[in-house]
Amino acid sequence: MDLAVIGGGIAGLWILDAAVRAGRNAILVEAFELGHGQSVAAQGIIHGGLKYTLRERDLDAAGAIADMPGFWRDRHDSGDGDGPDLRAARMSTPCTWMWRTDSLASRLGMLGAKAALRTRPETVPEADRPALLRAASGAVLRVAEPVFDTRSVLGAIADAHPGRILGVDGPEGIEFASAGGRVERMILRSGGGEVAVRPAAVVLAAGVGNEGLLARLGLDAEVAQRRPLHMALARARDLPEFHGHCVDGNKTRVTITSARDDAGRTIWQLGGDLAERGVDRDEAMQRDAAFTELRGVLPALDLDGIDDLEWSSYRVDRAERRTRAGLRPDDAEVISLHGGRLITAWPTKWALAPRLAAAVLEATEGFTGSGETSAGSDGLPTDFETLRRPGIAAFPWEERSWTSHHDVVSAARA
Ligand SMILES: Cc1cc2nc3c(=O)[nH]c(=O)nc-3n(C[C@H](O)[C@H](O)[C@H](O)COP(=O)(O)OP(=O)(O)OC[C@H]3O[C@@H](n4cnc5c(N)ncnc54)[C@H](O)[C@@H]3O)c2cc1C
Repeated sequence: MDLAVIGGGIAGLWILDAAVRAGRNAILVEAFELGHGQSVAAQGIIHGGLKYTLRERDLDAAGAIADMPGFWRDRHDSGDGDGPDLRAARMSTPCTWMWRTDSLASRLGMLGAKAALRTRPETVPEADRPALLRAASGAVLRVAEPVFDTRSVLGAIADAHPGRILGVDGPEGIEFASAGGRVERMILRSGGGEVAVRPAAVVLAAGVGNEGLLARLGLDAEVAQRRPLHMALARARDLPEFHGHCVDGNKTRVTITSARDDAGRTIWQLGGDLAERGVDRDEAMQRDAAFTELRGVLPALDLDGIDDLEWSSYRVDRAERRTRAGLRPDDAEVISLHGGRLITAWPTKWALAPRLAAAVLEATEGFTGSGETSAGSDGLPTDFETLRRPGIAAFPWEERSWTSHHDVVSAARA
């Protein structure tokens, strides 16, 4: 076994796919369901860096991410080339909207010119805007940043590697024999099954789970940081599908993305500053803040007139490599130990998974493991069949309770 990737979010799956394409004998080990944590909760926007041109200090990050929208679009449009085949994944929209005030266009022009943006925004005349933004007083921009349905992307990658993705029973379902972080052997357990593997290199790509894995390997978990969010949700049959950012000064006031549920409702996921500041609000306060904010940024939307409108929220931590000031790192990050035999990996953004996978492959170049006992024709041990096959984790809104708009308004008035 050449490579064992631990954690099956967008990072782990993209790394597995890249490793197999590069001819490595690789497996992925998942403790829960694929994407549990951040990846199914993400808004799925493939940023090209425009958001990062709003603030001088973010300009470096804009450079790293500039190629990603085009790269992902290619993966979706054609199965050929470098990276996973995403033709079966759902692109919810090929572009997002950005709007706010009269000063937006000039500010973007000012800092945008300094950043190597590939996705220059295009100002859209009133007649071509979506109904919700037709009467917006300031500039409305169309940005060529696609949005993907996160579960469908994870599913498309996982389906290409069915025999290589193994489920264990929680974090304790992996037992390590290691010295100073160098893993000699892993025992994987699920149900009654137990399999031993001896990977030449191990990649920790477990999101918040990296902290526990590092600690169990006797390494410093302080290399990781978490940045919490309290995301808001709205759903109704008559909510239009809409994807965009409302910007205020150098902040993204709210980021809206849309999905559909099995009952035919549109779900709005509300992030941005609303979710960052929402960390200090309880659920009722966050529902109230979301309602007030939506009324403020989309005055054309008659929320009170939507019959079955409901609100909810969920909390989730972003897991990243620690930075000195606790801010978001500029790029995907890896920490390499023992000459690449143990890698800790964070994509920083969903969009940056391809850059992370390239960095991991480079860091683990040349490690080939010894053959496992009882290997089948695909080079994988036949006893893998005794372990469970993880599914894709549920969207956060599928597991939340919802409050009717009527109750949110009544509570706000009381
Ligand atoms: C609300 C939200 C919205 C976001 N929106 C965007 C966006 O629009 N665009 C963008 O580019 N980025 C976005 N991001 C950031 C993006 O989601 C993350 O950078 C990315 O999903 C991280 O992926 P990951 O695979 O590293 O971690 P995760 O998605 O957290 O996956 C970790 C995996 O490891 C598994 N695991 C955990 N512990 C263990 C263990 N001990 N053993 C085995 N497996 C384990 C988990 O079950 C999970 O499957 C968003 C983040 C959040 C939270």
